[in-house]
Amino acid sequence: MSRKNRPYLFYDTTTALCGQCYRTVEAKIIEKSGAVYMDKWCPAHGNERVLVSDDADYYRQCREVYLKPPEMPQQFNTSMTYGCPYDCGLCPDHMQHSCLSIVEINDHCNLQCPVCYAGSGPKRSEHRSLAEIEAMLDAVVANEGEPDVVQISGGEPTLHPDFFAVLDLARARPIRHLMINTNGIRIAQDPDFAERLASYAPGLEIYLQFDSFRPLALQALRGADLSRIREQAILRLNALNLSTTLVVTLKRGLNDDEIGDIIRYGLQQRCVRGVTLQPIQEAGRLEGFDGKRHRLTVSEIRRAIAAQSGLFSLDDVRPVPCNPDTLAMAYAIKLEDEVVPLTRYLDADTLLAGERSTIVFERDPALKASLFKLFATNHSPESQASCLSELMCCLPSVEAPQALTYANVFRVLIVQFMDASNLDIRALKKSCIHFARPDGRLIPFEAYNLFYRDDRAGLLQTIQDEIAQTTRQRQRVMSLRPIYGE
Ligand code: SF4
Ligand code: SF4
Repeated sequence: MSRKNRPYLFYDTTTALCGQCYRTVEAKIIEKSGAVYMDKWCPAHGNERVLVSDDADYYRQCREVYLKPPEMPQQFNTSMTYGCPYDCGLCPDHMQHSCLSIVEINDHCNLQCPVCYAGSGPKRSEHRSLAEIEAMLDAVVANEGEPDVVQISGGEPTLHPDFFAVLDLARARPIRHLMINTNGIRIAQDPDFAERLASYAPGLEIYLQFDSFRPLALQALRGADLSRIREQAILRLNALNLSTTLVVTLKRGLNDDEIGDIIRYGLQQRCVRGVTLQPIQEAGRLEGFDGKRHRLTVSEIRRAIAAQSGLFSLDDVRPVPCNPDTLAMAYAIKLEDEVVPLTRYLDADTLLAGERSTIVFERDPALKASLFKLFATNHSPESQASCLSELMCCLPSVEAPQALTYANVFRVLIVQFMDASNLDIRALKKSCIHFARPDGRLIPFEAYNLFYRDDRAGLLQTIQDEIAQTTRQRQRVMSLRPIYGE
């Protein structure tokens, strides 16, 4: 009798979340027809299959090659009581420090975007007090010592009545680099505000919402045609030469065909140091989003960059070793009359060999260390430039300028935030983008939107109570064991 085989490869198991009840469930990672899926099973809600990557080779590279020892924070903030992801954080089981810490200073916003993970809007009037914001900044400093990057976010942070006092509080601490996460309306409309903002540079970067050139796509994502606002904001930021990253929220079929146009546009702007591409995460306000039709994986976006940009190839877009499941990055070097992807300077033999792109740089510890240092999320434009210069020094036969400034460096970053559907606890433990809380906790981005925003407190409490009850039952059984044994 011939045995039947399953129609896939069984690659691994992991812990995931049931997309319906948000309880942890076991999941299989399987490879089928060149793609990778997570097969989940919940005792209460049955099976669920989710596409994790449509490129099994790339997925394996992330899992097997782009590994580095986890970097720890200076302290942990919670204990391990209920298990991941119900103990955030950071609890001692977390496997990465905060490369980027987010301080949300308000919920108020001048837009009501149909897609907003924070659920902010004009009707929400909350602004955090300066005392709370100080406590959040202090939490980051306590964990990181000298935090690499702190992002001031909201809501729309530029509407905080004490916005510049917040920047002063941040500047009074040993924070290397500040980012302002903004929709750009105030920068576009208020020249005095923009000028005052620019006085905080260097060490300041604008993280500018920039989703599309098409009015219809802007309507779908932002509820308004912001084309002119974007144009004015970029004009002003160019005039001030204030370092800016264009941040694109991606929805399949809406604006994922504009990735190349946005990268090329960014390359032409004096102020723009890079583009960050973020596929929509199912969190907060999410109108007109259907996960089955609109979800995008890192591997698909990586391919779109290669197909559309006319600049980067697939090999230029590499996993970020802090958290390779969710982050990928490409660098280009801007010279006087040309823009060249970084990996062109690293000859193929240095980086890659063999059909499966085995990474040869593993054999050269200095080169590997320099590359991993550069391919990280804790950078400012200035630190990228100095890191890149360092890397060039490791390479024997590079004809690129060795002293690069931030004006020479352009970075494209893919950041996928997992949600209840595709959350892999193994990858969550490597999250390096964390929200600060006034109570001193630092909470990984995905876990925060799932369980730790104020409106999720009830769900978290219910799950924690269930776990506590099960634990008590187990302890009772254990304490009775000797009696059974007699
Ligand atoms: S996500 Fe990290 S901090 Fe949160 S419970 Fe899991 S290991 Fe701990
Ligand atoms: S996504 Fe940003 S701009 Fe839009 S409502 Fe939310 S906070 Fe405001």
